[in-house]
Amino acid sequence: MAHNDKSKNWRARTKLVHGGSVRSQYGETSEALYMTSGYVYDNAEQAEARFLGDDDGYQYTRFANPTTRIFENRMIALEGAEDARATATGMSAVTAALLCYLSAGDHLIAARALFGACRYIVEDLLPRFGIETTLVDGCDSQAWADAVRPNTKAFFLESPANPLLEIIDIEAVANIAHAHKALLMVDNVFATPMLQKPLALGADVVIYSATKHIDGQGRCLGGIVLGRQAWIDDYLANFLRQTGPAMSPFNAWLLLKALETLPLRIDAHVEGAELLAAALSAHPKLAKLIYPFHKDHPQFALAKKQMSGGGSLIALQIKGGKAAAFALQNELKIACISNNLGDAKTLITHPATTTHQRLSPQARAQIGVSDSLLRISVGLEDPADLIDDFNQALDKL
Ligand SMILES: *Cc1c(COP(=O)(O)O)cnc(C)c1O
Repeated sequence: MAHNDKSKNWRARTKLVHGGSVRSQYGETSEALYMTSGYVYDNAEQAEARFLGDDDGYQYTRFANPTTRIFENRMIALEGAEDARATATGMSAVTAALLCYLSAGDHLIAARALFGACRYIVEDLLPRFGIETTLVDGCDSQAWADAVRPNTKAFFLESPANPLLEIIDIEAVANIAHAHKALLMVDNVFATPMLQKPLALGADVVIYSATKHIDGQGRCLGGIVLGRQAWIDDYLANFLRQTGPAMSPFNAWLLLKALETLPLRIDAHVEGAELLAAALSAHPKLAKLIYPFHKDHPQFALAKKQMSGGGSLIALQIKGGKAAAFALQNELKIACISNNLGDAKTLITHPATTTHQRLSPQARAQIGVSDSLLRISVGLEDPADLIDDFNQALDKL
């Protein structure tokens, strides 16, 4: 079940169309969907051999499935990882990556600015099982170094971070982690696999919510964890097999077909985001616009160094607080109000009252989630129509 070695020298677009493909005896062009929970054996000896690990084949879809394996192998080829496992959602990928590796008495350091549910896992869930956690300002490399304890086993971050798009120096944080024999795990959802390569920057584990740009069309949930063969064999694979957050083969099929168009879609998302950010950056009704590749971004140079594009997300601080933020959302005709991101449709979110509502006002203030903050996930519409839509809505305020 090892992935297709011939894909090694292909460029990304080719890998995303052909990587990991395995044809059945029917020679189908489009990858087959194996919608099956189990598998049958030719004889009892084969069943025994398969459970002993002496016979390469499938046993049960909670462990592995041929369609899911094509999706995993295509992602492995793109990311340049040794192996990967797909999961039902991005959150099951994050939870499994952390829980399979950490035990009571271990210590995790995480950046404070995290996707809301990731922050819950780090702050509330892990400590219930005796795993100590420390949240730091991820942009301050010294803060990571200062938080290290003798029992620190892993670092966890996302960059750009949700929702203010802070950029963390992945290479610098990886070096600090490795100096203490800790693993660096990166949630790479906002950057997408097209625009940032955490493994090349020194990360040990990369995690995606495939629900976002990988599907990119708002159809299904999914997640994936990629890393070294030994780590997956020793920690992740058995944890997933026994606890069971398996990806549906149907979702794996949707996601592997979506990978075929990922580079084209990401180029269009980035073009739209760049044009919208440029058009709105000087708008008198906005106090601030944050986009990683916009020259006013506080870490513009670092963003340019570790990303090959600014991504599809823009953060805005609007003048007039919550009332103005709500009015802007309500006046938009094309952009939809939604807490999701990475969709073909442009989506706008008010984090303080939705994704980050769970946090106390002080915790929100600490990560800059004010009532004036809005997050835009730029979709695939014509950028000129999006610019018109935001301008007409801003003009009405
Ligand atoms: C959406 C998201 C997740 C969780 O993914 P689900 O597929 O919704 O479970 C984790 N991290 C980031 C950065 C996300 O945007």
